[in-house]
Amino acid sequence: MTRSERNPRILAIVNQKGGVGKTTTAVNLATALAAVNKKVLLIDFDPQGNASTGFGIDPSRREVTSYDLILNDVPLTEGVQATAVPGLFIIPSTIDLSGAEIEMVSLMRREFRLKNAIDPHAADYDYLLIDCPPSLGLLTINALVAADAVLIPLQCEFYALEGLSHLMRTVELVRANLNAQLTIQGIVLTMYDRRNKFTEQIERDVRSYFGEQVYSAVIPRNVRMSEAPSHGKPALIYDMHCAGSKAYIQLASELLKRERRRKEELAA
Ligand code: ADP
Ligand code: MG
Repeated sequence: MTRSERNPRILAIVNQKGGVGKTTTAVNLATALAAVNKKVLLIDFDPQGNASTGFGIDPSRREVTSYDLILNDVPLTEGVQATAVPGLFIIPSTIDLSGAEIEMVSLMRREFRLKNAIDPHAADYDYLLIDCPPSLGLLTINALVAADAVLIPLQCEFYALEGLSHLMRTVELVRANLNAQLTIQGIVLTMYDRRNKFTEQIERDVRSYFGEQVYSAVIPRNVRMSEAPSHGKPALIYDMHCAGSKAYIQLASELLKRERRRKEELAA
């Protein structure tokens, strides 16, 4: 497909809580989309650099990072690295990014740094996924301003809903003030475990409150998912037949279906 025919979609994987499955979702969703011939760029936007590690990118090979895009005005193209997955590219991050929130404060239009870096090159890709840090600080705001839509991984546990309403208010504020087109792609339940007594209750609550926004696909808690990063591979490559991998394939197909429906509605 030629460049001009691409209609890039920029998705921010967001939740201000750590350990809820953002990076696992970003890495495996990116892999699943690439597997169906989408050209995908994963932007590691967390100072912890877990998405970069998850693709086996050693810190010594992270010369140009997401920090350079937003603070050193380095063109996005210079940070892009190929991964072992055909069609999937990544911009790594390092701990340097943890200083960015403070360093950006004095800059003009500081909420737009990532958007300004991405926009000139977005049409090179079908999907750009931004793996956000565990906070609602300036980095995540930059991701929400750059994005067309957010995808929220939600771990089924007691405090999940409390955090979710705060996150939804933040999305509303960004939509009202900084990025009018921002929508919710969906909410995905992660680390789903029927043995946990809260799981089914939380699922019922989330589905009754957020309805269709919650994907049917649910990501089970699965040890293969947690083993994969230490091998520097997405779970989908490490063990494509495990329950978690199958769930991410299902999630990707639901996401694509939603995107097709959106396009049809726009065309109608
Ligand atoms: P976040 O990016 O939100 O901090 P991660 O995706 O890094 O969350 O997940 C936190 C931890 O849980 C990681 O060690 C990851 O490997 C593990 N994990 C994520 N999803 C699953 C899953 N479905 N089953 C088992 N472990 C998982
Ligand atoms: Mg993470």
